[in-house]
Amino acid sequence: MKALVLGRGKSGTSASKLLRSKGWKVWFYEDSSPTLPDVSFTIAVKSPGFSREHPVVKRLEKKGIPVLGEVEIGYRFARGTIISITGTNGKSTTTAIVHHVLKNAGYKTFIGGNFGIPFTSFADKTEKDSISVLELSSFQIEDLVDFKCYASAILNITPDHLNRYRSFEEYASVKVSLVKRSEISVVNFDDPNLSGIKGDNFLFFSRKRKADAYVNGDFIYYPGGRLSLSRLPLKGVHNIENYMAAALLLFAFGLGSEEIAEGLKSFHGLPHRTEFVGKVSGISFYNDSKSTNVDSLRKAVESFKNVVLIAGGSDKGLDFSPLISLFKERVSAAVFIGETGEKLFDTFSPFIPSFLEENLESAVKKAFSLALDLAVDTVLFSPGCASFDMFKNFEERGERFKSIVKKLEGTFE
Ligand code: ADP
Repeated sequence: MKALVLGRGKSGTSASKLLRSKGWKVWFYEDSSPTLPDVSFTIAVKSPGFSREHPVVKRLEKKGIPVLGEVEIGYRFARGTIISITGTNGKSTTTAIVHHVLKNAGYKTFIGGNFGIPFTSFADKTEKDSISVLELSSFQIEDLVDFKCYASAILNITPDHLNRYRSFEEYASVKVSLVKRSEISVVNFDDPNLSGIKGDNFLFFSRKRKADAYVNGDFIYYPGGRLSLSRLPLKGVHNIENYMAAALLLFAFGLGSEEIAEGLKSFHGLPHRTEFVGKVSGISFYNDSKSTNVDSLRKAVESFKNVVLIAGGSDKGLDFSPLISLFKERVSAAVFIGETGEKLFDTFSPFIPSFLEENLESAVKKAFSLALDLAVDTVLFSPGCASFDMFKNFEERGERFKSIVKKLEGTFE
């Protein structure tokens, strides 16, 4: 059996290792050395970075060679239960919460997918009683063929990746297609883009009305239990949604309400998601480098009463104007950087004090002095854009932000 793997990154390399361990012969294709070996391949394995419109994908399909995603390959070798999570934002956080709660309750649990750990890297280690908790991006979902899971969650769908999809509708329909692969689906009842979803095997969560999981006063209610928001470590409205989605997935899996509560209370969050960095001269700095689209920026700002904001990064063609009224209410001043800096400046400068800076370091210094001058106690770095204009990835960007803030400490204390 012969496989062509498209892309030699993390997921391509991992898929090839798994296939080779099962006796497959594997070839690689990369755009940097674009030769297609003259071999009659049984399958091709596509890394999520390759678009389905890529000429090589088209050529392989024309020849009748199935082009499968790396997650699909993992699925074919995995045993046990699969729980999957998708959405425009909150996937990693919710995936990590579910994984943490299951582990805390003593289950044999794996975490992976878009989480940075390819499914194929652990699929063969799973057993009948294992649980694989998978974060799935739209790019991974569109490459699935036979993949099925026990339970899945769709957290939200808002505009993103419009540089890769023909329309928002196409992007949304890829995410929604996950419900057809799931025995039970957990869905955000408040999301207008998910309002068409109905049926017996759905569990809904809502911040606005009574649902299978919902908010009332200071409590989150979920089947068989309730939890005070003040006892949950992750703050912000978006995390209330993530908690509810996780609780419903865990309930669907069969966990008791006490086990769910214990696990939710002891999860302390992932770095780069509205992460508290430290206080300098009374001003709190938050690193939200993972914020790469309009809605994650909205949710970050909504989590604070009043901030000096640093935003901007590489351009995906997103429209930020829906945030104008929120910014007028909660952003005392904004400092913009990166490829989208000017676009953001043009959008917001008529409404709030706005500044353009050359790089992250000067932006942090500017935001710090603005916060001191305006007596605002929070500086929030939530780019609302991808990081590829100035950094390797969001982790590098977030680490850089944190190290700049740490240096401020030295300067001002
Ligand atoms: P993803 O894996 O989908 O990118 P993350 O959990 O890594 O999600 O969070 C990405 C960004 O979105 C962060 O800025 C985070 O604060 C924000 N975020 C997290 N959960 C949600 C949510 N439910 N809705 C909107 N934004 C969210």
